[in-house]
Amino acid sequence: MPIEKVGFEDSLKRLVVPDLCVGCGSCVAFCPVKCLEYSDGLPRLVGKCTECGICFQVCPSCGPPTEELENLVFGRERKIGEEFGVHRRVVVAQTTDERIREVCQDGGLVTSLLMNALEEGLIEGAVVSCVSDEEPLKPLPRLVTTVDEAIECAGTRYTYSPNILAVREALDKRLKSLAFVGTPCQIRALRRMEMIPLKRYASALKLLVGLFCSESFTYEGFVIDGIKRKLGLDPKDVKKVNIKGKILITTMEGEVRTLSIKDAKRYSWNCGHCRDFSAELADISAGGVGLQGWTLAIIRTERGEEALKRAEEAGLIKVRPVEDEPKAYKILVNLSKKKRLRG
Ligand SMILES: Cc1cc2nc3c(=O)[nH]c(=O)nc-3n(C[C@H](O)[C@H](O)[C@H](O)COP(=O)(O)OP(=O)(O)OC[C@H]3O[C@@H](n4cnc5c(N)ncnc54)[C@H](O)[C@@H]3O)c2cc1C
Repeated sequence: MPIEKVGFEDSLKRLVVPDLCVGCGSCVAFCPVKCLEYSDGLPRLVGKCTECGICFQVCPSCGPPTEELENLVFGRERKIGEEFGVHRRVVVAQTTDERIREVCQDGGLVTSLLMNALEEGLIEGAVVSCVSDEEPLKPLPRLVTTVDEAIECAGTRYTYSPNILAVREALDKRLKSLAFVGTPCQIRALRRMEMIPLKRYASALKLLVGLFCSESFTYEGFVIDGIKRKLGLDPKDVKKVNIKGKILITTMEGEVRTLSIKDAKRYSWNCGHCRDFSAELADISAGGVGLQGWTLAIIRTERGEEALKRAEEAGLIKVRPVEDEPKAYKILVNLSKKKRLRG
């Protein structure tokens, strides 16, 4: 596909100014001349742009239509009735690893997949999101290369983490095989990058794990205003945040405080135009959808199938058919339809 030659300043006019930039960082990560920098959730021009057009081509907020990307990834477009995108099968899974169970968000499937891939030497590293030491609950992109590091990064932060920035770090460190964990917009950006194709990056990414996402929040809004000011909790005293019908904030002492999802809408990250709930272009997508202690997984590609099978064969996860959890499946369908209509 010929690359549309457009410089970053044009991209900026088309995307950032009209408020379409989701702040995923893909333009910054893949700029071949490193003329962009990421700050305050947005890309900024800090060097000389050669107008190669890559920043525009990897942006998840502009074309091509999803069908083209589906053809690239799956060799076909979704069929009527595939409300949450092209897939092979849907299951629910749970980790058997005690350390992961302690810190994971739902069933610990995501971290178990990374653990298995690292232990079997299928990947040299994984790009995930960790928590800042200085600002508790603030997510930061992170490249991990050991199982202990992957476990340290388990759990969900509902504020936006531009994980793609750490893909650049991995490639700069010459890692050749990586897993990536991220939100639907980030998975889309990586598929766009594959489409160009940027071969060095595309060939290193061996497994894309997408996280379901109704929406993401700003740190200043959700953590500082919501958790700190409204609930009077110090972010460093928060053990876990989860969303199950409402926002549940569990403190280190085990107390559970709540925020309503409706109230938290005002803290939304700038991604209101996104139509993808279940990371429809991932190899494997994961979400909690109302489950307690289990992760619902959509297996979409052969790579996703292989990753799940290996983790199961290694005894790292238990897997059950989604038919055991009709309520969770219904939530998946409903949230996918709702987000599709919203976009
Ligand atoms: C912003 C956001 C919104 C979500 N919204 C929904 C929803 O509406 N419905 C639903 O069913 N599920 C949602 N999820 C997914 C859900 O919270 C779990 O991540 C998923 O069920 C996997 O659970 P697990 O126990 O298998 O993952 P774990 O084993 O705990 O691993 C989670 C992985 O996610 C990474 N991660 C954590 N925070 C972020 C972040 N902000 N951005 C990118 N990566 C991150 C971690 O580094 C870790 O690798 C959301 C996730 C995020 C990040």
